[in-house]
Amino acid sequence: MKVVSSGWYTLGSEVEQFEGEFAAHVGTRHCIGVASGSDALELSLRAVGCGPGDEVVTAANAGMYTTLAVLRIGATPKFADVSRETFNLTASTVEPAISSTCKAVVVTHLYGRLADVENLAVLCRSRGVFMIEDCAQAAGAERGGKLAGSFGHAAAFSFYPTKNLGGVGDGGAVTTNDDEVADSVRSLRQYGWSTKYRVERPGGMNSRLDEIQAAVLRIRLPLLDGHNYRRRMIAREYAQALPARAGRLLIGSGKEYTGHLAVIVCDERQRTKDRMTDAGIATAIHYPVPDHHQPILLTRAEPVDLPVTEYAAAHVLSIPLFPELREDEVHRILKVLEAQQ
Ligand SMILES: *Cc1c(COP(=O)(O)O)cnc(C)c1O
Repeated sequence: MKVVSSGWYTLGSEVEQFEGEFAAHVGTRHCIGVASGSDALELSLRAVGCGPGDEVVTAANAGMYTTLAVLRIGATPKFADVSRETFNLTASTVEPAISSTCKAVVVTHLYGRLADVENLAVLCRSRGVFMIEDCAQAAGAERGGKLAGSFGHAAAFSFYPTKNLGGVGDGGAVTTNDDEVADSVRSLRQYGWSTKYRVERPGGMNSRLDEIQAAVLRIRLPLLDGHNYRRRMIAREYAQALPARAGRLLIGSGKEYTGHLAVIVCDERQRTKDRMTDAGIATAIHYPVPDHHQPILLTRAEPVDLPVTEYAAAHVLSIPLFPELREDEVHRILKVLEAQQ
């Protein structure tokens, strides 16, 4: 109501205050609010200078968001496989994918589990490429006192309603410690303006964060840690009670994991999914089609061998996980999972 009566609907004081608060939370010098997580990825890549002729290394099991951003800027996606243990990229899976035309590596903290960013950062630095984090699922993830979004050269966040920090519509942000990257994203999100109506940066677009979203995010940011804690507790309960024959739960230790999704890796996925559906419990698959098998990429020449990525696409199953999930519901879900296969 306050936002509506102010008559200022985008990039106003709520956005500015949220940017300051979120940068302080993540521990970066800058936060720039944009219209979505997808835009945050695209603008991060543009801001570090990626474009046609450049390769961007990323995972093929993270929902295609990064790949679409790479394609939009005219760069070439190059897929690296993921770790069997975490289903995230690691320095050893990424290293063989970095060629002389590689400009950046985008690391997704999949399902909210902080990837091996320390070693990836060392690798990227030694190869002269930028590391960008996709933190859409990892708001609040932390290791060694450092938060997701502060490890890379730049990081992308999504505030889509189902994310751990969600608004009441689309929204996103870029965090960075690099002043020039910050200036660039700030300009690119508003047509590439240097000053009003003067277009100085190529690649600009309209990607403003709404005041109403910023106002909601400012109310919800202080609740993020508590919500993540509750998500983690539920996930831990799942992990402890899940019988081995039902599969293993992908879960990080402590605060490294935001509990964005509870994903089990199971051999009999369809049967488990059907049993859950019969019991009235919703499940989902994140994600069924790996990026390199997406129809829009099928005509591209270079075949890639990504055995763990393929395995993941065929075996992952997400079970309910959100802070409002009640204890009795958790037990009912576990009962169905524990039932004789
Ligand atoms: C949701 C999501 C995005 C995209 O964010 P939008 O705000 O929906 O554009 C990008 N990457 C990951 C890993 C996501 O989960």
